[in-house]
Amino acid sequence: MKSKYYEPSGADVYLKYVCPNGDCLDIQWLTLKESKTKNYKIVCDCCGKVYKPKRVKTFSVQYYEDIQTEKTKPTIKAQETKPDLRFLEEAKKTLISFGFDKDEASDMISNEYEKSKSTNPATLVKNSLDFFGVKNG
Ligand SMILES: [Zn+2]
Repeated sequence: MKSKYYEPSGADVYLKYVCPNGDCLDIQWLTLKESKTKNYKIVCDCCGKVYKPKRVKTFSVQYYEDIQTEKTKPTIKAQETKPDLRFLEEAKKTLISFGFDKDEASDMISNEYEKSKSTNPATLVKNSLDFFGVKNG
């Protein structure tokens, strides 16, 4: 493994609280440490109301899956392997005319092309629809 992504060693989290006193709605920011403190009380700067924030247990970081393990990005590949991919465009247009949006059509046709390597737009369209469980009649 040559490239490694490093994880953060900590985080700076602030939590926002809005004063519950009627129309006051003054905003207070607490550090994560303060929000984790038992019986912590906020005194509103604006109206002087004292209120307790719900105690926070933890915050966690969630990562995206490693990009390198994500294999298929068919739309990009299809564009890179030009020149003559007009049949793909034609197949996509057909799907769009069936009511699929541009991105859907593009994904469906690219996936189907990856699988079958068919250069016949009609075949690509037909197989894409079969794959999605759309049948005629
Ligand atoms: Zn207030």
